[in-house]
Amino acid sequence: MLNRNGAIAKNKKRVFIGLLSVSILLILGMIFAGILIYYNRFGNLYRFILLTIIALLSIFILIVSIGLAGVVMTLWHVKTFYGLEGLMNTSLNLLFPFALVLGKALHIPKDIIKSSYIEVNNKLLQSRSYNISPEKILILAPHCLQRWDCPYKVTADVSNCRHCGRCDIDQLWRVSKDYGVNLAVVTGGTLARKMVVDYKPEAIIAIACERDLTEGILDTNPLPVMGVLNIRPEGPCKNTKVDLARVTEAIEFFLYGKEL
Ligand code: SF4
Repeated sequence: MLNRNGAIAKNKKRVFIGLLSVSILLILGMIFAGILIYYNRFGNLYRFILLTIIALLSIFILIVSIGLAGVVMTLWHVKTFYGLEGLMNTSLNLLFPFALVLGKALHIPKDIIKSSYIEVNNKLLQSRSYNISPEKILILAPHCLQRWDCPYKVTADVSNCRHCGRCDIDQLWRVSKDYGVNLAVVTGGTLARKMVVDYKPEAIIAIACERDLTEGILDTNPLPVMGVLNIRPEGPCKNTKVDLARVTEAIEFFLYGKEL
């Protein structure tokens, strides 16, 4: 089972890294085409403009290539390149839109690319070491985890839950109390951002679908966000579930630096 999960995680990472690598190759191709035009056709002004564009693109490609190489090396060796984290994050964020556009052209579903990005993000976090106090850790859960017909407003305050056990909010609340970490149930990105401002966490464990998780990770960068995909037995946004073992592993990772 573990091997199968490992193989799935590996394949997930490959989609995103593969798309990023092809994006870089495409930009390199454009630079090469620019160089060819420069040597063959234009007069002095055009040559200067082209030269400037080529120089800027080359600097861009050099920076993101170093960042991407750092990401790939980190994923291979599970080793942190100290001082390169910012560059690696910037490269991923800059290349992410390229990966989405390229993925669309290649008919790769967005959710696959986004879950691949989440996997890469999580693996990068795991290559680092954390020792964060519980009150500085925030679990952000989506309100679709709550049973749809539950009358209690847990988005206002999670302690409004009456612990009937019909949904995972109950267990999530217990886990948060056991470890002393914060828990907030949010209706969307705006409330999630407000919770981040209110709690001022040093690390976040975010539970959501591919789209919301990706946006959350990009939004809160450089804050470390461990993404846990929700489970959707009844389709999106209704009576969703979460793998609580993954949540507790993520909490322990941020608390004690335990491997996931
Ligand atoms: S566990 Fe809490 S949130 Fe879920 S249905 Fe019961 S009372 Fe509502």
